[in-house]
Amino acid sequence: MLCDAHCHFFSTRFLEILTKDRGDLPATERGQAAAALLGWDPPGTPEELADRWAVELDRNAVSRCALIASIPGDEESVATAVAKHPQRFVGFFMINPVAPDAPDRVKRAFGEQKLRAAALFPAMHRYRLDDEAVGRLFEAAAAQGAAVFVHCGVLSVGVRKKLGLPSPFDLRLGDPLAVAALALRYPAVPVIIPHFGAGLLREALMAADQAPNVYLDTSSSNSWMKYYPGLTLDAVFRQALAVAGPERLLFGTDSSFYPRGWQKPVFDAQVAALSKSGAGEADRAKVLGANFQRLFSNE
Ligand SMILES: [Zn+2]
Repeated sequence: MLCDAHCHFFSTRFLEILTKDRGDLPATERGQAAAALLGWDPPGTPEELADRWAVELDRNAVSRCALIASIPGDEESVATAVAKHPQRFVGFFMINPVAPDAPDRVKRAFGEQKLRAAALFPAMHRYRLDDEAVGRLFEAAAAQGAAVFVHCGVLSVGVRKKLGLPSPFDLRLGDPLAVAALALRYPAVPVIIPHFGAGLLREALMAADQAPNVYLDTSSSNSWMKYYPGLTLDAVFRQALAVAGPERLLFGTDSSFYPRGWQKPVFDAQVAALSKSGAGEADRAKVLGANFQRLFSNE
């Protein structure tokens, strides 16, 4: 069973919120105009986009995937997708925990909207992970049996770049060692660090070594490897398997927009690297789906 732990639900509402300060785009149908600028297919309604994702998963024999609401305020789009295909999608939502409306949004997201993980981007929203608002979010996750995803390391958001949106990220704030401290404080909360730490591989491995509830996702092309001379993806897998073990790696692609759709080349590269790393069939099955199923069971 193949599960993808990292896909972005780039909805019409996502594009509207993202481009709210771009005065050159029309006030109505702004999402559609933004999609045209990007060369993307217009996402349509959340129901339509959810159906497109379901077809795409079928086409690639992917059983289930995480869909991330990728800007604060777009939780409803992903909640709609999850409600339409509850067997296929697990809803994540980006949240800025220090924003005044965060506690209400989190309560609603984990509650009536049935989303399963909060996604934090501290470098983007510029807060410290030891801020007490982050602790409160972890408390809410613990109370609801939800997970927290924390983006660490290098952060470049392709869609922001393409639209020329300012991206004054402070990369110092996305530190796996700060994630480890939180994970230890909230041991019941699964904490996912994407992209093997996105350049902070050593720190991500240290975090996983220190806290048994830290998971690493393998998603994207992992271009952060360019910061390490000679590093290969199979070596990354070998080291992550040695330190975090096969139970705490979650396969992901970082797929997002259409018509590109599900990123099969990422899947192919990761399967090849996993094999080359020496992982046996049982361990590969855990990474490619069983771990995700365990974390986000369908009840
Ligand atoms: Zn991503």
